Amino acid sequence: MSASEFLQAVTQVVFIVISLIVTSAAVRQPTAARIDIAAFFGVTTIIIVESWLVVALGVHFAPTITVFTSALLMVLPYLLIRLVNDFTAVPRLVMRGAELGLIIAIIGIAGFAPTLPGLLVLLLVLYFVGSIVYVAVAFLRAAGGAGGVTRRRLYAIAAGSGFLGLTIIAAGLTALLPVAAHGTLQLLQQLTALACCLSYFLGFAPPPLLRRAWQEPELRAFLEQASLLPRLPDTAAIVRELELGAQAALGAPQATIGLWDEATSTLCYAGSDGPLSFAADQFIGGRAFATQRPVFSSNAPRDDPEHADLYRARNATAVLAAPITAGQRRLGVLTVFAARPPIFAEEDLHLLRLLADQGAVILESRALIDEATRVRAREEAARLKDDFLSAAAHDLKTPLTTLIATAQLLERRAVRRPDEPADLGAIKRIVNESSRLRTIVIELLDAARADQSSLLGRREPVDVAELARTVGARHASAQHPVVVDAPAPVVGTYDRMRITQLLENLVENAIKYSPAGGAVRIRAWCDNDQATLTVSDPGIGIPPADLPHLFERFHRGSNVDDRQFAGMGLGLYICRSIVEEHGGEIHASSQHGQGSTFQVTLPRGHAPSAAPEQEAAGVRLGSEQGG
Ligand code: ADP
Repeated sequence: MSASEFLQAVTQVVFIVISLIVTSAAVRQPTAARIDIAAFFGVTTIIIVESWLVVALGVHFAPTITVFTSALLMVLPYLLIRLVNDFTAVPRLVMRGAELGLIIAIIGIAGFAPTLPGLLVLLLVLYFVGSIVYVAVAFLRAAGGAGGVTRRRLYAIAAGSGFLGLTIIAAGLTALLPVAAHGTLQLLQQLTALACCLSYFLGFAPPPLLRRAWQEPELRAFLEQASLLPRLPDTAAIVRELELGAQAALGAPQATIGLWDEATSTLCYAGSDGPLSFAADQFIGGRAFATQRPVFSSNAPRDDPEHADLYRARNATAVLAAPITAGQRRLGVLTVFAARPPIFAEEDLHLLRLLADQGAVILESRALIDEATRVRAREEAARLKDDFLSAAAHDLKTPLTTLIATAQLLERRAVRRPDEPADLGAIKRIVNESSRLRTIVIELLDAARADQSSLLGRREPVDVAELARTVGARHASAQHPVVVDAPAPVVGTYDRMRITQLLENLVENAIKYSPAGGAVRIRAWCDNDQATLTVSDPGIGIPPADLPHLFERFHRGSNVDDRQFAGMGLGLYICRSIVEEHGGEIHASSQHGQGSTFQVTLPRGHAPSAAPEQEAAGVRLGSEQGG
């Protein structure tokens, strides 16, 4: 047996093996593509068996068989064009042209056999080679547009078609070139035929191991980013990424995830105008969810006529869906849409199932992270409440104790010596402690409002420079002179009472944390569309480690002794809330031991007016502060 004969035998056997595989696949699940694949390999097998018969039965059968074989050979390009049409759209004109070409070829062969006229041979060669080139290019283009496993298979099929074309060309050249070249040409023909056969084998009937290997890069790409997904800002973002991952892995144009909502017993999908909810068994995806099994439909409008219009609107002929389930927990369903049925749906379904399982793990992790965040938030809220209560109790206790003690003293004196004049010193202490109590209560109330970002009331044009002068004048004393440097008006739309409170807090702190004699300086100016305000003092300063936490609730500087400087650490927290609710920023800077500067910037623009209930709150607070 020569090398060429050996190659021929191997090629023929491989073709027959593929034929058996694809035929059994078509019998198991007779989709249009499978039937066309089986037909293509079936015809090839018949041609091969015929060639064996010619050898076995003798050459005198050859002429009849040759006519039949030639006619069958002409069916091959037509079947390949049908296959292209199964996977991508073939223009009607090309389809009709192929049918016409086939009819002319068969009639021509039957009519003129055994000696075909030269022109007919030329036409047949043109029809054959033209079709094969078209098929190879079409599969190549389809592969370029596809992704994942589909892309690799289509490349293999395109290569197979290319080799088929080369085989035909080599056969044609054998007829044209001198006998001396026949040996080489035959070898070339056998080699290209074998390459065609192997490429088709890989494209149309890849062995399971190769399928897994082809799936692996997509699965790995999906898994590589999977670990990051649970940390995305919300479940909607995770779902979007999972959908994109499934699209890429399967080379499908669209994928969607429906999440199961226990409360409403519906599957929720993200729509362009907000979430859409559907009953559990709606759509093909819903069926996969309801039965908890992957579902494949090669013709979704036919299999789910109720939603045919929606499938058509999405250009979705084929639909694959797999339930997303973690253990016993049904989380949702992953559905992938394609304009045409995938080449081998059960494999894509297998990959889809793997992706859905991975999706379940990611969504479960996210749910756990959310739960942990909720628990932490509850703990934090409880801790803040405790802090709040203990701070309130602690700070209210001191003035209350003084107040009660002084009032009891006054009472005892009044009982013992009713005629004695009133102890003005004691009464003054009562007034002072009461107003301290009132300040603490207001601070606590304001902190609670700041938590809900509802500090602001009605806004109006306010001259911050003028307010600075008023506040400065109110707090200036011989011990603590206050210098105000705000020559020009600084007008913006603000809540007057809250901006006053902001200034008061900053100036009071500047005085509180500065030694006697230290002058406080207030500056206010306009910078285009924003107002800037600074309050500086030559006081104790702020340690660098405290600066980042200065505006947090209850934070007090590590250089501040409670017994020397009374306070709860709420003032700056309220200041920051006032500034931020106005859309501005506040910063502190300090050289430790050499004073501090607080800088506030506020947009001057026309901020939207507060909601009515907030205005009411503002009025109420105003009276609390003023009264
Ligand atoms: P309180 O003054 O009641 O402690 P604040 O919220 O007003 O609460 O201030 C928080 C902390 O910031 C203070 O405890 C103090 O450590 C620091 N601080 C605020 N203003 C100044 C300032 N002008 N100089 C030095 N430290 C300051």
